[in-house]
Amino acid sequence: MGQFMKCATRSVLLLALIGSTVFGQGKQLRIIAIGAHPDDCDIRFGGTAAALVKAGHRVKFLSVTNGDAGHQTLAGAPLALRRMEEAQESARRLGIAEYEILDNHDGELMPTLEVRRQIIRAIREWKADIVLGPRPNDYHPDHRYTGVLVQDAAYMVVVPNVVSNTPPLERNPIFLYYEDSFQKPAPFRPDVVVPIDAVWDQKLSALDAHVSQFYEWLPWVAHSLDSVPKDGKARRAWLAQQWAHPLGADARKALQEELGDAAASVVHAESFELCEYGRQPTLAELRALFPLR
Ligand SMILES: [Zn+2]
Repeated sequence: MGQFMKCATRSVLLLALIGSTVFGQGKQLRIIAIGAHPDDCDIRFGGTAAALVKAGHRVKFLSVTNGDAGHQTLAGAPLALRRMEEAQESARRLGIAEYEILDNHDGELMPTLEVRRQIIRAIREWKADIVLGPRPNDYHPDHRYTGVLVQDAAYMVVVPNVVSNTPPLERNPIFLYYEDSFQKPAPFRPDVVVPIDAVWDQKLSALDAHVSQFYEWLPWVAHSLDSVPKDGKARRAWLAQQWAHPLGADARKALQEELGDAAASVVHAESFELCEYGRQPTLAELRALFPLR
């Protein structure tokens, strides 16, 4: 017993030493993914979230609006309630710790001080090591302003006199952007590419939980509602086809740097870009935080 305790103590010391030199290694990370709507995080980060949970980390999704405008026949509180239930089911399927939805109207989000404070508080309360959000150039104003709001919180989360009733973070988190395809003012840069083939079915299952979106609203707005199969199994196959997207040349290159020859067999991946605000890890340090194999 005495010998065991000595060894255990030594291991703890060793872990503490490693943790102090390389951020995040040997410790449970706390990650908060922020999106404008109650399916955005699932689309951009669902696979990586599932992989991080499997690796023992704590993941929270936060939707800045309640999604009460995203449907062709429903609206307002009944829609917000339905989407809340879908989001909770998605969280259950991904295994994440929490899916919080802020009660701001969908389609009307503005980068106000009030919402900035909500986001600062959420990042602090989660004690986040890593924060994800959209880039602030996007076709949808809610996505765009969520990007602005997260960036505006990036420094303020460590300032004690701002949102002073919630303790500030002692260490600035790393801020990352989700992948998008917008080219102006600058194209997305994949700094870290996370292979998600092992959790692809789980990600699809999370998207499948948002019935009002993936089988109703999004096909309706794309004038393709007739193409959605009625049968559950066929619908799932249709979903997989709709949301699979091949890796771009830049992402493929980054993946080769991370994995070498093993990158060639990767089909599905999610990519992230390091934000210039917040803590600035080296590329190697950043990649070491994610389950890449
Ligand atoms: Zn959205």
